[in-house]
Amino acid sequence: MKSNIVSVGKDSVDVLLGFGSNLGDRRRFIESGWLSVCGLEGVEPICLSSLIETVAVGCGENQPDFLNAVGLIRTNLYPEILLDKLQAIEYSFGRVRTIRWCARTLDIDILLFGDFVIDSPRLKIPHPLMFERDFVLIPAKEIASEMIKTAEKKFKFAIRNSDF
Ligand code: ADP
Ligand code: MG
Repeated sequence: MKSNIVSVGKDSVDVLLGFGSNLGDRRRFIESGWLSVCGLEGVEPICLSSLIETVAVGCGENQPDFLNAVGLIRTNLYPEILLDKLQAIEYSFGRVRTIRWCARTLDIDILLFGDFVIDSPRLKIPHPLMFERDFVLIPAKEIASEMIKTAEKKFKFAIRNSDF
């Protein structure tokens, strides 16, 4: 197994995940996606936020509205292994990767992974856009206010997102 960062080792870390859907049965995709994450080996679920509905941004006009939520888990999986498993869940819910930010049945992003900072071609953590998005910050503050407060102080102005 390969990673650009150190091993998580035996200790679990708190990980914040962003869920989004704007195609089909959005609520079911997010709730079932969360349940699939809860069922992963190496994942201890903590809680899922309320759902928030927002107008789609970043992908032209006439996009269906999004439902978003944020989930908190603990895991001892390596970040890139967790990403593999999250992408497998996205595909199992019919996700087709076309244009970024465009319509999708289920998107699961890793927002924060403990206090890790990762900048690899496949994975950027903290998620470079998380502090600009109310549909992330509002549900994140609902379930993990301390984690967000600390991360905002530490990372908000440090993240370069021009190439994301
Ligand atoms: P979006 O940016 O709209 O979520 P995708 O879900 O299609 O787009 O993801 C595009 C790529 O973003 C993924 O293939 C993944 O390698 C990369 N990526 C980089 N950082 C992250 C992250 N923190 N969480 C999830 N995917 C990430
Ligand atoms: Mg994504």
